[in-house]
Amino acid sequence: MPSSHLRGALAEALSLVFPTWCAGCDLPGVPLCTDCAAALAPDPRMRRLPDGLRVHSAFAFEGVAARVIRALKEEGRTPLARPLGAALRTAAQAADAGGDVHVVPVPTSRAALRRRGYRVAELVATRAGLAPERLLVAAAPSADQRGLGRAERAGNVAGTMRARRVAGLRIVLVDDVVTTGATLAEAVRTLRDGGADVLAAATIAATPLRGIITAHRA
Ligand SMILES: [Zn+2]
Repeated sequence: MPSSHLRGALAEALSLVFPTWCAGCDLPGVPLCTDCAAALAPDPRMRRLPDGLRVHSAFAFEGVAARVIRALKEEGRTPLARPLGAALRTAAQAADAGGDVHVVPVPTSRAALRRRGYRVAELVATRAGLAPERLLVAAAPSADQRGLGRAERAGNVAGTMRARRVAGLRIVLVDDVVTTGATLAEAVRTLRDGGADVLAAATIAATPLRGIITAHRA
């Protein structure tokens, strides 16, 4: 067995030869290994927002899927939008996106756009071939949602979005991950205030939650 010093040196040398590694398991040399790509096969599920709106998701936000989504969101690994887009497409199909339905991403906050330089939900929807339309825009800076409960989140997102001309449009919302559903609920409210008919929502992943929103397997 090589010493830990030698292993460190080996890892460093490998990182020069293989400047990429699997977003799901850190295997060097590939952006996504075949095992982790297989782990992104959709395992569809559906939950409802408190107002009854269906939210279809391709899989649970855990394990390989969570790591790959985080790599896209927090590490700038935008090529991962393609395999995640394939999963979002499955969820969008379950949410009846098609025909004369407009696909609208939940807007990226200005702070997140400044930090990342790209809009995650819109990018993944584009890679999914869903032709997303930016009919919802961020209206005001929203505080960080992490670590907040459902009621706090709902208060935190009120008034954070603005709808463009949506009156009379049939819309399926798309987002990366649904957690409490507070952000999606605010998007639905904003679109309906603008006269749109919101049919359902689709996300790449759903955070498994106990006692916040009743989850159903699709
Ligand atoms: Zn892997």
